[in-house]
Amino acid sequence: MYDIQKIREDFPILQREVYKKPLVYLDNAATTQKPLCVLDAMREEYLNVNANVHRGVHYLSQQATDLHEAARETVRAFINARKIEEVVFTRGTTEAINLVAQTFCESQMKAGDEVLVTDMEHHSNIVPWQLQARKMGIVLKHASIDDEGCLEISNLKSQISERTKLISIAHVSNVLGTINPVKDIIKLAHERGIPVLVDGAQSAPHMKIDVQDLDCDFLAFSGHKMYGPTGIGVLYGKEEWLEKLPPYQGGGEMIDKVSWEKTTFERLPFKFEAGTPDYVATHGLATAIKYMESLGMENIEAHEQELTRYCMEQMRTIPNMRLFGEAPHKDAVVSFLVGDIHHLDMGTLLDRLGIAVRTGHHCAHPLMDRLGVAGTVRASFALYNTKEEIDALVAGIRRVSAMF
Ligand code: PMP
Repeated sequence: MYDIQKIREDFPILQREVYKKPLVYLDNAATTQKPLCVLDAMREEYLNVNANVHRGVHYLSQQATDLHEAARETVRAFINARKIEEVVFTRGTTEAINLVAQTFCESQMKAGDEVLVTDMEHHSNIVPWQLQARKMGIVLKHASIDDEGCLEISNLKSQISERTKLISIAHVSNVLGTINPVKDIIKLAHERGIPVLVDGAQSAPHMKIDVQDLDCDFLAFSGHKMYGPTGIGVLYGKEEWLEKLPPYQGGGEMIDKVSWEKTTFERLPFKFEAGTPDYVATHGLATAIKYMESLGMENIEAHEQELTRYCMEQMRTIPNMRLFGEAPHKDAVVSFLVGDIHHLDMGTLLDRLGIAVRTGHHCAHPLMDRLGVAGTVRASFALYNTKEEIDALVAGIRRVSAMF
């Protein structure tokens, strides 16, 4: 039973007003609000447990370590990874992709080798590869999308060459909402011996992800987009790949033995976790995952699919509406412009009505170029949003449009 009113009570911020209007928070693709249980778990840990993790002999350190490693197990089960060794904590999706870009390119690629992404990637799945391209002379290619915002699989296939060493692809576009057929792409990549990284920043909050079923080689996602704290995220990597990759950053926690002559590194996953981890955030993330699981990922997905369908239907009734992203499989993101109203004007005026949306390029300049716009307005949904909030958005857009 998906009791939306009860769920909303778990997020006190949703009750607040802005400009004396009820807050309608539709900027969830940027970050989600946090339920009380996450805040309570983190407060409780700082209040009663806090101590640095790993190798501490004292009681608090062991307790903090237990919570931190229990969080790793919660993440493992959440994505159905085979082993906890395959779960690396990072600061977020961005750091997870940078980790792979740096260590994979350095150890597995030579000048002239290719990485293939798509035209709908977030900058964090473009720029890390460009940095390596500049340093090492690797080539970054990008597969095209059609006018509905779907990936053109034939184009993706045609861009694969014997020099393609990795495909890195968004599971769900943060601008178009398109759900990419990553399982099929992984299959066709594996048939050619190419590993695949899935950017799960916009999918992990919305759907059940099973890394064994997808058979992805890497998966990256961020805690703050799935009701957890900021500053924590996950890189899943198949053990065989993580074993092959060199360390990312050096420091404490990631070493086995350090000497002036030769330093050896910790086993997985610690090899990739230099320095004190954000062990309170990992516990917060695990609490957020358990919260989502208590509602049921299938129920969350069904609720958000219905919101997306309803929003698209309502948006189509607005005169001069231009929708970006009309893929048949789409999730929780609606990007639009109305006539020639600037996205910033629309966003600013909606804000005055209490409606929080995001405006601009959404960290996807190449996609904006493909769409032929400087930016869009984006409404994005979470498990606590309601149809009434979509009605408020639609009424707000009509009101702003009338002003122009
Ligand atoms: N990829 C996608 C598809 C995203 O939407 C985002 C966040 N907007 C990121 C990567 C980067 O996530 P973070 O800033 O949490 O590292």
